Amino acid sequence: MDFEPVIGLEVHVELATQSKMFCSCSTAFGAPPNTQVCPVCLGLPGVLPVTNRQAINLAIKAALAFGCKISSSSRFARKSYFYPDLPKNYQISQYEEPLATEGSLEIASGEIGLRRIHLEEDAGKLIHAERNGDFSLIDFNRAGIPLMEIVTQPALRSPEDAVEFLQKLRQVLRYLEISDCSMEEGSLRCDANVSVRKIGEQILGTKVEVKNLNSFRSVRKALTFEIDRQTRLLLEGKEIFQETRLWNENRAVTETMRGKEEAHDYRYFPEPDLRPLMLTQEDVDRVRSELVELPEVRKKRFIAEYHLSSYEATVLTAEKEVADYFETATKLYPQPKILANWIMGELAALVREEKLDIGNQPVTPSFLAELAKMVENGIITRLAGKDVLRECLKTGRSPATIVSEAELAQVADRGSLEPIVLEVITENKKAWNDFQHGTEKALGFLMGQVMRKTKGRANPKLVEQLIREHRHGKQEN
Ligand SMILES: [Zn+2]
Repeated sequence: MDFEPVIGLEVHVELATQSKMFCSCSTAFGAPPNTQVCPVCLGLPGVLPVTNRQAINLAIKAALAFGCKISSSSRFARKSYFYPDLPKNYQISQYEEPLATEGSLEIASGEIGLRRIHLEEDAGKLIHAERNGDFSLIDFNRAGIPLMEIVTQPALRSPEDAVEFLQKLRQVLRYLEISDCSMEEGSLRCDANVSVRKIGEQILGTKVEVKNLNSFRSVRKALTFEIDRQTRLLLEGKEIFQETRLWNENRAVTETMRGKEEAHDYRYFPEPDLRPLMLTQEDVDRVRSELVELPEVRKKRFIAEYHLSSYEATVLTAEKEVADYFETATKLYPQPKILANWIMGELAALVREEKLDIGNQPVTPSFLAELAKMVENGIITRLAGKDVLRECLKTGRSPATIVSEAELAQVADRGSLEPIVLEVITENKKAWNDFQHGTEKALGFLMGQVMRKTKGRANPKLVEQLIREHRHGKQEN
């Protein structure tokens, strides 16, 4: 009997606002615990929430990017539950009237429908003591940070598809600067609803919610584990319980957390302290005008406009700042293939090595254009170019300055190279002899010697030409 998994995701994204959802506390990550709090986000009596306009605009932006229907009137609701990280004992969320519905995002295996996008506030963070006792600490800095929840249709069919979906989603959200989507800092978190059914069956199996998926790796591993677990139960003729399970990263298993709550457990009701969220066409159009070209579209344009391969275009458009960097450099030196090579090769390696961002490091697009041009015009060798790039990254000085000061300019005149070639021939009789008798391999060795003497500055084409000319000379004599 063959089974297939059905997966739906609930993705929580912390929005890139300066202040919290309903108060003016800062959202900056990493501050000392409980220093970014006020009576509103601590849920003290008598306070009133005020909606963050920027958070609404960012959610509208996401809704537009995914082709959702945006509601002209949506409403905040109270979701009540008791947990120590929730100071008010309720979370302000959206329930029956979400901001947006019915979008989609395309992955390799097809279009994945989005059920809804809504706004809510984050809870505080519990820190469980690992040593010296049995206690937990609460940091309310996170309480009230604007969250956007994106819920997919149960349309994903494998852990790989789920990971690809999340990667694509993250890419779009980062392009539009809706969120930094840092999984390490918890600004992109995900729960998954997983069920398994016999292939060909129409109704869905009993679904289990898996929480605590904090990396792409844990999404893949947790889903694989959970699909195996449910399939095994079905094969053994056992029942699957509807429940919420927690991914235990250390033990690499999902564990029962609690029985599944029903919506009525949360006693949702409209938030009495906030008016319905009314959006006019102008509100939406204003946000629409801020949309930038999305990664898929940009990738296709890179292939058509710059004649890049699909692979090159994929790499260069993966992050907006890399794509912007490439396009700026290309405007200064219209050799897209050559620049793509530098950016994807040496520059990417150096930036990674120094743990820098390509958009914020000393080798500006204009410096890279200058360097690539010098190599192509034969002023320096490609090998020397690599050193210049490293030097430019370390010192922030322009490639032209580095080249002139370090005397790296390529030696490409016969007058200078001829004596060096002769010297090498005299000093390496055996190799020269081999080469004269047709061993082409010896040519590489001789060229290497010339390079060594010129500290890599000799123009390789000219060196080869000179050595060959000498061979002909000898044979003619
Ligand atoms: Zn506050």
